[in-house]
Amino acid sequence: MSADMARILMYHNFRATEEEWPDAVAVAAARTQLAYLRDHFRVIPLTRLVEQLRSPTSIDKNTVALTVDDGRCNFCEFFFPLLKEFRMPATFFVVSSFICGKDWIWTDKILWLARQPHAHEELQHGKLDLFFDKMNRLRPDVRNSRIDEVAAKMKISIPKEPPPEYAPCSWAQLRELADSGLVEIGSHSVTHPIFSTLTDEESWSELAESRSQIERLLGRRVSCFCFPNGKPSDFFPKHLQQVQDAGYSSAVMTHFGMPRRGADEYVLPRIGVSGKTDLISFMKYVDGVEYYQGLLR
Ligand SMILES: [Zn+2]
Repeated sequence: MSADMARILMYHNFRATEEEWPDAVAVAAARTQLAYLRDHFRVIPLTRLVEQLRSPTSIDKNTVALTVDDGRCNFCEFFFPLLKEFRMPATFFVVSSFICGKDWIWTDKILWLARQPHAHEELQHGKLDLFFDKMNRLRPDVRNSRIDEVAAKMKISIPKEPPPEYAPCSWAQLRELADSGLVEIGSHSVTHPIFSTLTDEESWSELAESRSQIERLLGRRVSCFCFPNGKPSDFFPKHLQQVQDAGYSSAVMTHFGMPRRGADEYVLPRIGVSGKTDLISFMKYVDGVEYYQGLLR
């Protein structure tokens, strides 16, 4: 029923089985998911999927593209070997200042603080989403001071270097990924800001600088952009025009959905997969059952 629609899966973190980190997808679960995709779908690069959405003829049946956000090393360590094993392509969206080792991603700092013993009240279970909602509305400098304040209230300081699970890939690792022919590198901005809080100059520089930096250091064209946080409230229509003007040919979001042929290639919805997604839910998402149930709700 959903064969004429495409699916773009969105991953973030991966782990070996023994680690306690429910948000990250364990290697064994990821292998089962890829085996399911191999048996029932056609996994193609995101850029090809975007071309198909634009083409006047129908798109390939049961098409899937894999995407992984942010640029963390756990992708190279745990998911890339599976992509090689299954010979499946994926797009890896990287935050360029994070790869350069300038800072770790601010959302990870919040998640790290929330995982510490005696986490501040605002970061405790059930309240974390509200805290993120508040942070998403602040300008980057104000937001960063608020995060430092929360850490100070917990009497800990945020380490300068990210802990191993939040560490970035190096440029050399990104080159190896790209050289494999399986992984396309896309941009996920310079500093992972919420675009709706930025001036026009700032959003332009996040788009243009990340793209030119990745292209310069990898020697490859960057054609896809991934909006940080990527929910409809995180950007304005003018930003979609900026993405296009900065030379990108498509952009992905985080809201749930399955794009049809003719869909706007600058607001592509995705299907999120985390360590909390069991196989039955995964199958319901990629089969489109969840999508159609959502339309009926
Ligand atoms: Zn992100």
